Amino acid sequence: MPNGGPDCCGNCSHNKAVQEMAHPQPEPRERFWQISHCTLRNVKVSNPFWTYCKNFNYGKHPESRTQDEQLNGWITASGLYEGYVRIPWDHNNEPHVSIPTTCSICGRKTDEGIEINHNDAILGFCTNRHYIEWWLSVHHDDSFQADHFESPEERFKRKKLSGI
Ligand code: SF4
Ligand SMILES: [Zn+2]
Repeated sequence: MPNGGPDCCGNCSHNKAVQEMAHPQPEPRERFWQISHCTLRNVKVSNPFWTYCKNFNYGKHPESRTQDEQLNGWITASGLYEGYVRIPWDHNNEPHVSIPTTCSICGRKTDEGIEINHNDAILGFCTNRHYIEWWLSVHHDDSFQADHFESPEERFKRKKLSGI
């Protein structure tokens, strides 16, 4: 199994795939991915082992889950690797990570950026930092802070030094 941390949708009792299939070694894996859907938040989960939220409930006995619990915070995805970090979804819109894009904040082109479809426009970002800066401009929620993430200057200097 991929390992994005134990508290992911792939191990959560609110995930339809966990409810219906063997846990924690679901086979066939393709079907597990295909039917992964959060029944609490009613949202498709396309990357179950790298998606998280604070309503996580370990899925050993999904039948005993609380089905009407209050939603707690944002769904998060694994961000670009700078150490393991989590970045918030835009409500039920999922950011796509590690793909080529042009940053809508600074104009930098990168092979490993972040993209999100927001109001039918595809927005790109060079770093977790610039994604979070955009996200804060839309959501005004201080549960995330841009300066907790690597700046483009730090990230691209580090990549140059390591020859990536
Ligand atoms: S979004 Fe939260 S509640 Fe839903 S399956 Fe994932 S971890 Fe569980
Ligand atoms: Zn940028």
